Amino acid sequence: MLDTQSIINREWLTDSRQVTGRVDDVVFFAIQGEHHDGHNFIGDLYQKGVRQFVVERSALTPARRTELMNYPEAQFIEVDSSLQTLQSLASQHRRLFRIPVVGITGSNGKTIVKEWLAQLLADDFVIVKSPKSYNSQLGVPLSVHPLNDSHTLGIFEAGISQSHEMQALESVILPTIGLFTNIGTAHDEGFKSRKQKIAEKLRLFIHAQTLVYCKDYTEIDDEVNMLLKAVNPDMQLITWSMQGKDATYQAQLTQNWLTLTGPSGHVKLRLPFTDPASVENLIHCVVVMRCLKFFSQYALQARINRLRPVSMRLEQKEGINNCVLIDDSYNNDVAGLLLALRFLNQQSTRSRRVVILSDVLQSGQAEDELYEQVASLMQAAHVEQFIGIGPLVSRNARFFAPNSTFYETTDQFLTQFAFSDLRDSAVLVKGARPFSFERIVNRLQRKVHGTVLEINLDALTHNLNYYREKVGRSDGDAAHRPSTTKIMVMVKAFAYGSGSGEVAQLLQFHRVDYLAVAYADEGVSLRQNGVDLPIMVMNPAPETFATLLEYNLEPEIYSIRLLREWGEWVEGVGRGAEGVEQGEEAPRPAPSAPRPLHLKIDTGMHRLGFLEHELPDVIEYLKARPALCVATVFSHLVGADESQFNSFSEQQYDTFLRCTTALEAGLGYRPTRHLLNSAGIVRFPDYKLDMVRLGIGLYGVESSQLDTSAVRPVGTLRSVISQIKTVPAGESVGYSRRGVLDHDARIATLAIGYADGYDRRFGNGVGQVWVNGTRCPTVGNVCMDMTMIDVTNASAYEGDEVIIFGPEIPITELAHQIGTIPYEILTGVSERVKRVFFKEEN
Ligand SMILES: *Cc1c(COP(=O)(O)O)cnc(C)c1O
Repeated sequence: MLDTQSIINREWLTDSRQVTGRVDDVVFFAIQGEHHDGHNFIGDLYQKGVRQFVVERSALTPARRTELMNYPEAQFIEVDSSLQTLQSLASQHRRLFRIPVVGITGSNGKTIVKEWLAQLLADDFVIVKSPKSYNSQLGVPLSVHPLNDSHTLGIFEAGISQSHEMQALESVILPTIGLFTNIGTAHDEGFKSRKQKIAEKLRLFIHAQTLVYCKDYTEIDDEVNMLLKAVNPDMQLITWSMQGKDATYQAQLTQNWLTLTGPSGHVKLRLPFTDPASVENLIHCVVVMRCLKFFSQYALQARINRLRPVSMRLEQKEGINNCVLIDDSYNNDVAGLLLALRFLNQQSTRSRRVVILSDVLQSGQAEDELYEQVASLMQAAHVEQFIGIGPLVSRNARFFAPNSTFYETTDQFLTQFAFSDLRDSAVLVKGARPFSFERIVNRLQRKVHGTVLEINLDALTHNLNYYREKVGRSDGDAAHRPSTTKIMVMVKAFAYGSGSGEVAQLLQFHRVDYLAVAYADEGVSLRQNGVDLPIMVMNPAPETFATLLEYNLEPEIYSIRLLREWGEWVEGVGRGAEGVEQGEEAPRPAPSAPRPLHLKIDTGMHRLGFLEHELPDVIEYLKARPALCVATVFSHLVGADESQFNSFSEQQYDTFLRCTTALEAGLGYRPTRHLLNSAGIVRFPDYKLDMVRLGIGLYGVESSQLDTSAVRPVGTLRSVISQIKTVPAGESVGYSRRGVLDHDARIATLAIGYADGYDRRFGNGVGQVWVNGTRCPTVGNVCMDMTMIDVTNASAYEGDEVIIFGPEIPITELAHQIGTIPYEILTGVSERVKRVFFKEEN
């Protein structure tokens, strides 16, 4: 049996996707979450060699216990809550170290302050910190666990969304220095009042020696004095103010110069960023630095000059030579490397994997041990080509596969590497800041014109989970929940413009049950991208039948004619195959399983589908052909999103039920029945039947308008300003002199036109785009590749980004402006617009 200490000494795994390193040392904590149950993955992990599992008693149903008996070599540690076990182990581990630990909480800026502090203090301490924004009940123990003897400083962030969450985080982080960044409205729902939220956050500091905060947040100041002082009277408060409050430091900003006056005189610092949020974050950093050790003005300035903006996400970009890039060029530590490799494994549409990695700085590990570990991660992640850049990784080349290459500096790599040899690969670019890997990304990225459609993969997952919950299905693992409604996702039309390969891979990862496309070639492209979910093809032309069979695609059958053609074809192939296989040596072919097809019933759309009175013929035909089977039967609502058609929808449902009952009786078995699209799922939950077909809702438009805030926008269409000029009143802008100006105007030309999908109807002020926080109207006609807008009232420069649609300007609003539906806006974004996929990594 494992004792506590030996669990602490092992590697912890909570996400089954993260198996990228050696597994013999791993203990897996199975956690039951809202959308995910870790216990469903024990079998997978056992297959991969994991042997130690922490499991929750409440998850051990008799069926589960029987399943676990199939894993004889595994050890199971039964606990009430895996998460709480993880937290208490981390807390135990934390207590072995007597180093300063900075604990950060607050509404905004936690992650940036943490990353900046780590950048600023990199020369002075060996730092362990939370990767990305790992600040949750789960993220915090995972962040603290790597703490070891070589570290001299810990920096961790704690985020809470509900009352009573902070206690556990306090016990894991046990900060010696606290920082309360600020208070805002995020997560207010989880609390009774703002006061209560502040009070709960302050619990992080009940054992801290020092607390840093800004006195200008008077609500924070009040609660510190009322509550915290009572429980932690010896705590030293180090405060600052920009508004002349009675604080330890007075801060003053004049243009980009910050003067900080405190107990040991004043320092004057030039700041690289002057937006209010960055200034606040920087002051927090400087004050915390001063709590840790003395820095002269000169030393502070030198460190601030090296600060870089913090990018919080892994981006997937299109690369040169048909490569896919995963850009993680802002930091490089082992925890972040694991996340990035996981992303590489999950998202790449290319099977050949390449990693370009800089020295790993600040790991706190012995050099040999570190690079041996990095090399084994590469091997476990099936990286075919490894490229190391930097003196440290280069001198540890012996650990890496023989085909690896090494360069002392980024410059050397850029001048010597044969970029034309890098093709058809997924390339992870990950480097510590000083290596400036953004130059490598720049070199590897395919250059296209400045318009991109960004797809937020986390929003997509969120939306999927929302609809899953609506149909009462909280997990993708069918084996353990056989009685729930399945989900078919429509990825037709390039996944509503979002990029079908990447979207389908994500859906496969989340184990949806079915995909549907309009045409056979869309299905083929999914198969070529490694998607092996069942796929329904809604418009299967007879010329594509061979393709359907070859790629295991399943046709929608909507007429007697099509049924006969398909039936003859399938039977013909069956006979042909037998003829071929009758050679003397060949083993007798097993009777092949019947071919699945999908029957479409026309209950009122009058587009494709069988009418009710045609069903007897269908049944008769199918009964005589055992080579065919009806996998599913379905129909489509005409007006699921509009209440004026409610009674028609009911009528369609009734007709559909009559049809399926007749079919079942005639066929002698029960095909899966499905009727609802996205709006139907929200508006007619009683009609969910055996499966639903999710479309536009997944892509971020809640078309029933009942629950609009429940789905998150997925796509952001951005372009850039190519040129700005001042045009006097009375002149005209664009073709046909349509845009006549009634004022002296600053006119910006955007790199997007109707050929990109920005409809001509948006011209002449109908459409507005978002420029640095201001909505700006179009001027004149939209051109093929360009559009002019009026930026007189905006702060705008050449090269600035503009947003056409996204969280700032909803797609529904655009649709409304030109009298169409969101579907047309989404699918109208042309394929020449580059798609960039990203994760927020929260
Ligand atoms: C496109 C489509 C859907 C999805 O509809 P949404 O309104 O996008 O959810 C469902 N069923 C059929 C037959 C479709 O063609």
